[in-house]
This record gives sequence, structure tokens and C-alpha cells, in this order.
Amino acid sequence: MTDVLTASFIERLRNLVQADAIEGWGVCEDCAVEDISTQSFTKIELNEKCYLVWEKGRKVRWFYQEFVLPEALNEYPLAGLTLRLALTWWAELAEVYINGRKVQEGDLFDHSCRVVLSSNVVPGEKVAVAIRLVSPGHDIGGLMRSRLIYESDYNEIDPGFVADELEVIQGYIDAFELDQPEINLDWKVDDRQYFHQSLEALRTSLLPLSSQIKQHTIFLLGHAHLDMAWLWDVEETWRAAERTFVSVLHLQKDFPELTFCHTTPALYEWIEQNRPEIFAQIQAQVKAGKWEIVGGMWVEPEMNLINAESIARHLLYGQRYCQEKFGEICRVAWLPDTFGFNWQTPQFLKLAGIDYFVTQKLRWNDTTQFPYEWFNWQAPDGSQVKSLMSSPIGEGIEPIKMAKFAWDWVRKTGQPNALWLFGVGDHGGGPTRDMLEIAERWKRSPFFPKLEFTTAFNYLESLESPKDIWNDELYLEFHRGCYTTHGDQKKLNRRCEGLLHQAELWASLASSIAKVDYSKSILESARKKALFNQFHDILPGTSINPVFRDANEEWFDVQDMSIDIQYKSLETIAKQIKFPSPPHPHAEAFIVFNSSNWERSHLCRIQARNRLNLECKSWRVYNLSGQPLKQQICSSNTDNHSVVLFYTDQIPAIGYCCFWLCPTDSIVTASKATLEPFTLENEYLRIDVDPETGELKSLFDKVSQFQLLRSNGNQIQAFKDFGQYWDAWNIDPNYEKSQLPGAKLSQISRVEKFEDLLCQRIFVEQTIENSTFHFTYVLEENSSTLKIETSVNWKDRHTLIKVIFPLNIEAGFTTSEISAGAIDRTTVPKTESEKAKWEVSALGWADLSGKNYGVSILSEYKHGYDCKPNQIRLTLLRGSEFPDPEADLGQHTFSYAIYPHAGNWKEAQTVRKAEEFCNPLQAIVLDRIPENGTLPPVHSFLDLQSDNLVLSSLKQSEDNPDEYILRCYECHGKPAQLNLKGDFEIVEAFDLLERPLQVPDRIRPWEIRTYKIKKRQDQKEGII
Ligand SMILES: [Zn+2]
Repeated sequence: MTDVLTASFIERLRNLVQADAIEGWGVCEDCAVEDISTQSFTKIELNEKCYLVWEKGRKVRWFYQEFVLPEALNEYPLAGLTLRLALTWWAELAEVYINGRKVQEGDLFDHSCRVVLSSNVVPGEKVAVAIRLVSPGHDIGGLMRSRLIYESDYNEIDPGFVADELEVIQGYIDAFELDQPEINLDWKVDDRQYFHQSLEALRTSLLPLSSQIKQHTIFLLGHAHLDMAWLWDVEETWRAAERTFVSVLHLQKDFPELTFCHTTPALYEWIEQNRPEIFAQIQAQVKAGKWEIVGGMWVEPEMNLINAESIARHLLYGQRYCQEKFGEICRVAWLPDTFGFNWQTPQFLKLAGIDYFVTQKLRWNDTTQFPYEWFNWQAPDGSQVKSLMSSPIGEGIEPIKMAKFAWDWVRKTGQPNALWLFGVGDHGGGPTRDMLEIAERWKRSPFFPKLEFTTAFNYLESLESPKDIWNDELYLEFHRGCYTTHGDQKKLNRRCEGLLHQAELWASLASSIAKVDYSKSILESARKKALFNQFHDILPGTSINPVFRDANEEWFDVQDMSIDIQYKSLETIAKQIKFPSPPHPHAEAFIVFNSSNWERSHLCRIQARNRLNLECKSWRVYNLSGQPLKQQICSSNTDNHSVVLFYTDQIPAIGYCCFWLCPTDSIVTASKATLEPFTLENEYLRIDVDPETGELKSLFDKVSQFQLLRSNGNQIQAFKDFGQYWDAWNIDPNYEKSQLPGAKLSQISRVEKFEDLLCQRIFVEQTIENSTFHFTYVLEENSSTLKIETSVNWKDRHTLIKVIFPLNIEAGFTTSEISAGAIDRTTVPKTESEKAKWEVSALGWADLSGKNYGVSILSEYKHGYDCKPNQIRLTLLRGSEFPDPEADLGQHTFSYAIYPHAGNWKEAQTVRKAEEFCNPLQAIVLDRIPENGTLPPVHSFLDLQSDNLVLSSLKQSEDNPDEYILRCYECHGKPAQLNLKGDFEIVEAFDLLERPLQVPDRIRPWEIRTYKIKKRQDQKEGII
């Protein structure tokens, strides 16, 4: 009976103790469990995958089957064995009843089980099984696996177990191309004892392989990925966390070896505040080395759409919490489920004391396989973090799968030992008793790698340094819709990031000048609310509707808190200013503030209120030397409010300039109405709007004498987008094949008709499908940027809207802003992985530059792009229905801008233009002119004196209220020098956690730098 190890040999052995039960189920609709026995059941057909399926929409199905336990299976006697039923379902809710008693519950995430039908099989015994399954709202329900498994006592030999061992051996032989061993088995199965001896002999003959296999270890680590919100709201997350943590603590009592890792300080903080007794047990297990805190960030955030300061704060608050509550910071960044990672991530992590980065998400790629399992991931500044593409999450202890993973790992990395993560996830859960018992059993097999529990950190430390380097972003070839879906989240995120920066900056300056309170706890709480909403199913727009209702309340809180602090801070600063004497008895003082670290000149808007009820007809803006400024009254109404638009020149970096607003009797009128009806023109640009379509017919750069557009620009394109199952996440890869009819113009008009005005506008209304788009083309005085203000009443579903700009440019690559940097991506993709980047993200701008000329698209919060050598398209809207059927329905307002420029984006200072586009200058009018001020009327508090450094944050130090933290980054990929000028001096360089760091003076290309600064003692008041 000499044989070789084949799949059919293994299958034959397995079939002695295992049988498929999927075809035996009778099905009926919902009823009470007591009434099951009286129902009539029908058989339904298996689908092509051999699943039993039924319709979506939370529809209930009962599956019923009565098993009469047989004497033998394929002649193998079964009496005395344990019978389990292994089930896998796809259902929102699952309940398993055995003989009328509920024995198991589950859901979409806890989607499989092995229930015991009999612990001592007696032939003829009857067992009735009823399963109640509820289909998901978004998808059909399914009963996918239903298998009867007879098992012997764990100390006895078991044909099913031996079959699995043989499969593990077979995998090992295949992976390392070893010679096939000869095997002998006497298939006289009806005599159990005899057959067991024969199986033992077979195993003994294979023992020489054991020592080789046992040179490998599979390290085990329990995990329970828990989304902060997804198909449930945040309140449910707290409950799921509590359940998960209690379950793990219990299991650790029975299985003291069990190690478990979990992320998210935001979650631990909730447990600490609301379940202190559980928190104390977690702390004790952390101390004992059994519970590992991983992650290092406040939550597991989205990593493409948040700015540099948000990433820095995830790390600052996350790591400081770990240090304070668990005695040390995390050394392992743990982001298994985030939808792609910006290229600067390694630098952020290294600056926060993190040595290792772990994800598994690129295993989800739809086109190419990520080439490395273990690699050095390098940021543009050269920082490297050792990175692991871990085993998948949400897995059980499945020895064959684990062995396959391990052999794969050994072959690809040359390292002998693999790490296997196990535990129910997404909605928490973690390891189960069954998983741990299976692990116990396999520990004893001579044909399985050693099994040992570990922590992520210990495992990673045990590995040899990786040899491969990945010097690029980690692009996920899958969830490309997340740059666009749920525009409200993107808008509120960008707005709050901007407001928080302003609030912290002005509060720092106000508290340093006037010794007023910095409002640290309010600012920290606002920051943490924003960080929470950046979670990888909230900001990407992939949760159910109630999650966004709650998130928006939080965003609005952040907005209110930061606006309030910003306004109070600006007022405090304003009151410290010494004004010269006013040019008019009723002159009002106002101040224009600039938070950018460069001098700014552009249009500014101010509200003039006639507080004294003067008999004035209009208002005039004067500079400090009494010269009237070029201005335009935009609106004026009966309750004495006017909006005055005026051109400001040279507002100092991180500083301000004072102006006067005076009542006047002369009405400033415009002179000539000579402009072409659909042309906008200033000294830089001439723009023609096509009166037939409302699109841009021409965009001419008067300085460079260059026509940017190859054909009509700002043209809307609509496509059918069926979303590739993960509806909110994915754009249909074939969307281009189903383009819908174009937009129809319903209205076009010129808003301002006079050429000497500061701001010219043309209004266009178009309809596409069932939705109406309003575009206002805006060209301002002294501006080389065409702004496009858009409002849409969005009514369409499964429709993708892009806006296209065909260009007279040929560019081999496109550059997009990322957090604290930029990335080039080819426009002529050659490899499969380059082609898979058919939709990419940009933070605030994307650029396409040819040899001498280029164009940047600046965008408030639309992040999705695709580019060709001579074309840019910006993605505006989608219409996904799962998991939120109402995603993006209703009103949207957003702006983007076209910035044509000579040279490339660096020479054109695109980074600054984008910041100016999103953060207009702030102006405040004072109730009365301060009397005892000492600050000069024009002032720069801080100047970095560098063209390629961008201020990312100015905040109070975490540890000393008299010291401040300045963070900046190099934005052009060139070395930089920081020469701090103004009221502050550098004390020392810090890392992101505000710990001292040794650094050279010169700043590396793309480097992020943090400094502790303090107010200069020898400060001289100087007017710049
Ligand atoms: Zn997740």
C-alpha cells in the first residue's frame, strides 16, 4: 500500500470523520423558536459557490436540520467521539439552537463557530439544530459552510487531525521543493483500534520531517480590531470594547500564556473613566507583559487626508497617554486597516519614538501584490522605519492556513519564524476559547511549527533587519472612492484643521504677550475630538448615517471652540497695539492678521457697521499713512452693515497690520462698463467663459503669453459608478466605460460689470442627470489664480462626477501635496502597479508642470484626482448607498482654483498659494481704539526667514506654560535654514513628543522640525 502524499489521499482520510451538511437544511421564514418543530421547511438550491443565500434587507431565515448520528462514516466507527458542527455565515445576526437551547450568537464579524452537537456520539442519537440568521441591510445573507466534524479525545489519534497534519507536511514539501516521502497506510478502517495503529505507523514514518519543521516557530498574538464606528455608532464601540476586554481578561486567567495587543488611547481613556476596575486589570496585565499596547496614535486614523499637524497630534497625545498610564511609549505603530499611507509616515513615526510599522491592508490590493513582507519603509527625508506586512486580521487558529502563511513568510524573507494574529475583529471580539484549545492541540503535533505566544515588539525585535527598502507611499489599490465619499467629513476636517491651527497660534501669541490663559484644556479637547473623527471609517465616509450625524456635532463643537479662542486671542492682541492718531474723528481701527509664515498681499473683506448712526453714505479704508486703499463695497443693507473689500499689501509674516475705516459722504462708484460680457481679466489673466456651455473656453496667461487650455476646461463629466461591492469605499474600476450625457447650461450671467472693481465674477448654472451645479468664476485684483466657487444640489446615486481640464502642457509626472511634503506620480504608467493608481489623493493641491510652464489645482477639500500628461481631472462627487444610503445627498459648497504658472510648482510657490487659498487673512474691527497699547501698529511676531519652510504649528508646550512649540517642515525637497526673527528665540530642538532631540542646524530636504521656543528677554519693539 505504498503511496505518495496527494490531496486525494488526504481527502479520503478526512472524509472518515467529516461530512458536508450544507444540503440538508430546510428553510422557513421567521417564527418563535418554540414553534420551530411545527413549521414546514422547504429546501432551497445552493448557489454556484455552494452557499445557501437569501435576499438582503434584514430578512430573517430559519435553517433547520435534524441529525441522526450514524454508526459509521465511510466505514469508520463513530461511537464515543465528539461531534461538532462548523458553521460560517454572512448575516447581521446569527443564533444557533441545539435541541431548542441557544448555544451560540454571532454577527457579520463573529461569523463562524464550531458548536458541539454531541460530546459522546451514540449511534441513533438525534440532534435538532436550528439557526436563525438575519441578512445584512446592504447585502444578501448566506450560510456558507456547514460541516460535521467527529473528533476523538485530544489525547487520542484522530483521522481528521492526521489529515490536517499531512496537509501541513504537503505544504512544507511543496514550499521547499523537497522529495516526496513514501507513505504506507492500511485502509482497514472499520476496526478503529487497528486503523489507529496504522495511522500511528504512518506518522512515525514521517517523523524525520519533524525536526526540520520544528526549526520554525509560529508566534501567536491575540488581537481584536475594533472600529471606533462603522456599521454601529460610537456608543456601541464602548460596549464592544468593554465586552472584548473582559473576555480577554477572562481567557488570560484560563490560558495564562495568552498575549493580546490592542491600540487606541481614546478607547483606553473611556475605559479608564467609565470602567476603572477593568482598566486596573488591563494595567496589571500590561505590567505582566501579557497585554501589549500598540499603535502610538490617538485612534487608527485615515492617513492620506489629514495634515501634518493632525498626524503629529495623534502621536503626541497617543504616546503621552501610554507613557502616563502604562509606563512607556509604544514602539510599534499598528495600523492594520487604514486605507493607504502617505509617504512621510516613516518620518512622523520615527520622530515619535516608534521603531516599527505594522499593517496588513495592502494584502487587499485589487491589482498587484505588494512585493515585501518585511522591509524598510523610507520617507522622502530619508527616515526609515522597519515595516511588517502582517498576517491578515480577524483570523482564527486554522493550522493549514497558518502553516501556508508561515512557509510563505520563510521563503520570502529568509527568516525562520512567522507571526500569526488571531482573534475576531472589526467589531472587537478577540481570541476565543475554541481557538486557544485548537492551538493547545497543535502544539503537541510533531508536524507543526512550534507555537509560542509573544508580543509584537518582541517578535519584531527578534527579526533580522530588513534588506529591502520601499521609498514611496503605501498606496492601497482598492478604496479609491474614500478621497471623495461623504464630502461633509472632508470639508469639516479641513476646516477644523485650519481653525485649530489658527486658534493655537493666536492663543500662544496672546498668552505670551498679555499673560492671558492659553485655554490648554479646551484646545486639547477640541484637538482630540477632531482626531477621533479622523478615524479610518469616519473621515473616509464609510460608516452608517447616524455615525456622521454624531461626527458632525463633534466637528461643529471643534469649530465653535476654536473660533471662540481665536477671536478672543486676536482681540487680546489688538488691545495691546498702540495706534497713531486717527485720520478722521469717527475713524474706526481695524487689524488684518496673517497666520502664514510669509508676508501676504491680497484682497481682504471687512464688515463695516455704522455703530454711531452717522449720516454717512459709505466707507473708505485708509492705511496707516492716511492713504486711501483701492476698495469695493460688496453689499450694503439697511441695518447699517456694509461689506468692504479692499486690497492689502504686505501684511507681515505671523503678524498684523492696522488700518482705518472712515465714514464718507461720497459714494464710490465704478466708472466704465466696458468688459466683454463673459470675460474676466486682470493684469495676469484673461479668461473667456463659453456662453453656450458655461465652461472655460480660454485661460490666457498675459505675462507668459500662454494659453493654458487645449479645449474647454471646467467641463463636468458624469459616469455610472457601481462601486465594486465596497460601495462607499471603491470607485467602479470600469467607470470610464459608462459615461453619461454631459451637462446642460441653464443660466449664465456676469455678476460684476465694471472693470475697475477688485473682484470680477461670472455665474453659471448647469444641470447634469438630476442635479444642478452652480459655478462662480472669480478673478481678483492682483491675482494670478482663477477661483471656482461651486454649489451643488446633489440628487444622483451611483454617479461619479469629475471636472476636466485639458491642457497645453506635456508632463511626465504629476505632483500632489501630502502631509508635510509632496509626491510625484507618473502620468505615463507602465507597470501594473503604476496603472493601478488610476485615482490618487492630494491634500490641498495637485500640479502638472511641463518644461517651462505648469498649472496647479488648489482645492479646499476635494482630494481625488486622475492625471494624464496633458490633462487633470478632479473628482467632485460620488453617490454611494452602502453603508449610508443617503451619503452625499443634498447641498454641497466647495471651491477650487486654477493657478497657471511659469516654471514648476516650487518656483511658482504653489504651497503658499494653496495655503492662502484655504486660509484667508483675518480682519477684526475694534469697538474702541486702545489707549495703553505698546505693540507697534505693524508687526511680525515670528519670521522663519526661509522660502521653503512652512509653519505647521505654534502651540503652548505640554510641560511648561511659559514655553512654546514651533513646528515647521521643509516643502521643496531642498536644504533649509531657520533663522528665527521676531519676539521669540529657540531654546532647543524637540521631537514630536516634545522631548529634546540632537539635530544639526541645517534642515534636511522634506524634514519636519520641532523646536521649543520662548519669548526673548531682550526684546526690542521694532516696526518691520
Ligand atoms: Zn477598521
